[in-house]
Amino acid sequence: MTIVSQHPETIVLHAGYRSDTATQAVAVPIYQTTSYAFRDTRHAADLFALRELGNIYTRMMNPTCAVLEQRMAALEGGVAALALSSGQAATTLAILNICESGDNFVASTDLYGGTWNLFANTFCQMGIEARFVDPADPEAFRQKVDDRTRCFYAETLPNPKLQVFPIREVSGICQALGIPLIMDNTAAPILCRPIEHGAAVVVYSTTKYIGGHGTSIGGLIVDSGVFNWERYKKRFPLLNKPDPNYHGTVWTEAVKPLGPIAYSLRMRATLLRDIGTAMSPFNAFAFIQGLETLPLRMRAHCANAERVAHYLQEHPLISRVIYPGLQTGEYRRRANTYLQGGYGALVGFELKNGLEAGRRFIDALQMFYHVANIGDARSLAIHPATTTHSQLSPEDQLSSGVSASYVRLAVGIEHIDDILKDIEQALDQS
Ligand code: PLP
Repeated sequence: MTIVSQHPETIVLHAGYRSDTATQAVAVPIYQTTSYAFRDTRHAADLFALRELGNIYTRMMNPTCAVLEQRMAALEGGVAALALSSGQAATTLAILNICESGDNFVASTDLYGGTWNLFANTFCQMGIEARFVDPADPEAFRQKVDDRTRCFYAETLPNPKLQVFPIREVSGICQALGIPLIMDNTAAPILCRPIEHGAAVVVYSTTKYIGGHGTSIGGLIVDSGVFNWERYKKRFPLLNKPDPNYHGTVWTEAVKPLGPIAYSLRMRATLLRDIGTAMSPFNAFAFIQGLETLPLRMRAHCANAERVAHYLQEHPLISRVIYPGLQTGEYRRRANTYLQGGYGALVGFELKNGLEAGRRFIDALQMFYHVANIGDARSLAIHPATTTHSQLSPEDQLSSGVSASYVRLAVGIEHIDDILKDIEQALDQS
């Protein structure tokens, strides 16, 4: 028996698993196995023909990963999920599942740099075109669509600008055109449930807040089950035409006895099988541990970040603080609409004394770690102009929201007095 609840605090502890059927173990076991014994030849044949869903080989599915998948699907209000080896793998498969060479998709310009590279270079080399638009104007997405456009892609809370994406406005356009919206919700788990606002697919780097302890790289895709792939047959041939990659299966037909999982089932049965970007059972176990305290941690992250943002705003050496809770006008409206329970844990700021001050601030930090990461329980900081964005021209840095003195903080869950003390002493030396 599994406990059914609508409350995230309960879902993260109970969805998808009660106790191990073989041993009654309460903690989710690490099923460190490559393969699974078939009961007989008929069972094996049924599994391969998808007449029955079950375990075949850990590259495609694993019982420890399955608990994480079911928990995340429940948390997001989806019907299925896929655990993958990294956030980058999740983004890659989310797109490749519906795009072939010659196709295109429309992406927000406000993206994690790794995602931007994947879209602008790797996908381009594969013949898949990413058409970038500024999310300041949701209508810009509509203007880029043609017959070969397969999806829209954006991040809920992209850094460094920290301007929340207009999910409902863009998903409204998606509904009118029959195009799915894929949302990377990495920076805003618990705070935002993109499916509620019309997203068809949610992507995560579980490496960040879901793990929360900086131990494991992982990714995850949640299938909302809401998008009607069959209705838009011409736009989604990979899901509606006989797939030579799985002995002629038509995915929208094959899933009829199983539920609305055409998107996620095709991804598991073909892309995960062929490309092999599976999450290891051990990492799934680590993410399950992280997930159990995610709602608590997000509250603590958000409360600390809010205090940090207000402290920085009053500081004489700081010219600007970038934080959704301090924005005004349309961006504040978006933050209030899409983030519930806090404005996230990322805070950017600019120092009046420019690049050297930014560098000195980072070098003077004692408790904050200087790392290219977000989402740890520990507080983290980076100076993008000399690290993550150093290969961009100063103009491109500015258009991506990075000025010479911009510092990004990923505020952790230490005691707020210690966080502020470290920032204060580092500012004194900047
Ligand atoms: N999406 C966002 C918003 C990220 O910040 C990152 C990594 O920083 C990724 C995706 C990629 O995740 P991973 O590092 O797990 O591949």
